[in-house]
Amino acid sequence: MSANHYRHLPSVNQILESPAVQSLLGTHAHDVVVDSIRQELDQLRAEISKGVGFNGVAGLEILTGRVVERVAREQRPNLRTVINATGIVLHTNLGRAPMAEEAARAAHEASRAYLNLELDLGTGQRSSRQIAIRNWLCRLTGAESATAVNNCAAATVITLRTLAAGREAIVSRGQLIEIGGSFRIPEIMAVSGATLREVGTTNITRIADYEKAINPNTALLMRVHHSNYRVIGFTESASLEELVALGRKHNLPVIDDVGSGQLADLSGLGFQDEPMIRTSVAAGADLVLFSGDKLLGGPQAGIIVGRKDLIQRIERDPLMRAFRLDKMTLAALEATLRLYLDEQRAWRDVPVLRMLAMPLEELRNRAKAVATQLGSISGVKASVQETQTFVGGGSLPAQAMPSIAVAIAAKGRSDDVLAERLRTGTPAVLGRIQDGHLLLDLRTVFPEQEAELVASVTAAIG
Ligand SMILES: *Cc1c(COP(=O)(O)O)cnc(C)c1O
Repeated sequence: MSANHYRHLPSVNQILESPAVQSLLGTHAHDVVVDSIRQELDQLRAEISKGVGFNGVAGLEILTGRVVERVAREQRPNLRTVINATGIVLHTNLGRAPMAEEAARAAHEASRAYLNLELDLGTGQRSSRQIAIRNWLCRLTGAESATAVNNCAAATVITLRTLAAGREAIVSRGQLIEIGGSFRIPEIMAVSGATLREVGTTNITRIADYEKAINPNTALLMRVHHSNYRVIGFTESASLEELVALGRKHNLPVIDDVGSGQLADLSGLGFQDEPMIRTSVAAGADLVLFSGDKLLGGPQAGIIVGRKDLIQRIERDPLMRAFRLDKMTLAALEATLRLYLDEQRAWRDVPVLRMLAMPLEELRNRAKAVATQLGSISGVKASVQETQTFVGGGSLPAQAMPSIAVAIAAKGRSDDVLAERLRTGTPAVLGRIQDGHLLLDLRTVFPEQEAELVASVTAAIG
């Protein structure tokens, strides 16, 4: 019986000649298509061996359909845009900060044409690529000079290496942080060649602890923002002002690694505790380090602002060649910074700021509309729910942010199964399961993605 079925199997050439597969050949290499045909035929033979029947004409149509699907599936890019319905604005696994349109466009333009990356168009002389961002950063932060590398981890390494290799950098024990699994201050120190000189205790470090540790081999004092955790209770740490005064007294630079990079003032949204770059510069930090793709809302970058002589030394370090930004990132960073020249514009056009500032009422109205659409699918219950989310990306860890989500439940499907189907759909939708509900938080869903979101949920349930 099954031998008969095998005999009805079409040949590779017969499948190749079908109209559906012919049209694939317009956009895909011949080898790719033939390979998919062979794999589908193999799979079919395996199915027949298990007793599945194969009927010639209808079977050919199903088979060509499977080939078309396989080619589409196997040839799609590995990196795809997804809908972030987690409510976490700076979600590291989802690419942290989505950039402003202007920044994306600048990266696009920079990538597809020649540009004056290292050429002064006025003089015709070779120039530095850092000039593109230096003046904007100085204007926005009040610093004397500025430069940028690939991320804040690289900024920390190159700063410590330039200023403290073979010597000691003093850091409070309460600030020996780990961020995101691989950024650990003691390890970063070791990589840079600087010797970590820990002072104080986990909860208490006084300025006197730093002063006692200073010796002829001390190169700098460093403060690291305790980005992703808080010590609460009986705590004490030296203020930046105290560190700056101590640094001046002993002629030691003070480095402030603030991580998040707040240029616009978020305190109006109820967020405290996250240092403004401008404030650190004004307090006298010799160098301030921060990320481009955390609260700044730009491309991945590590920005260093501060004293001109120190920035010059950093730029002369051979590692700069390894750490420097490429033209697309540089263009995107410049465009992001230019948005901040008009703070209102930044609040409107930088997605991270816009999402953080989105009022609950607006979220609630959007959630009601989405819930109504989802609730009309048969077997689906959708309701609007108040939630708490976090900014993410190591920013503002102790401060939950109120948000609004659509909670969905589908008859006959567990939350886990539904979440998996959403995650593997097109576009993928990432929600979160909390207290037995699958939540789709609208704070991180762009309004223009709502129709796609509804379509993806509909497909996942069907
Ligand atoms: C996030 C963070 C870093 C690392 O920044 P990346 O841009 O992810 O490399 C370094 N220091 C602090 C304090 C941070 O919060």
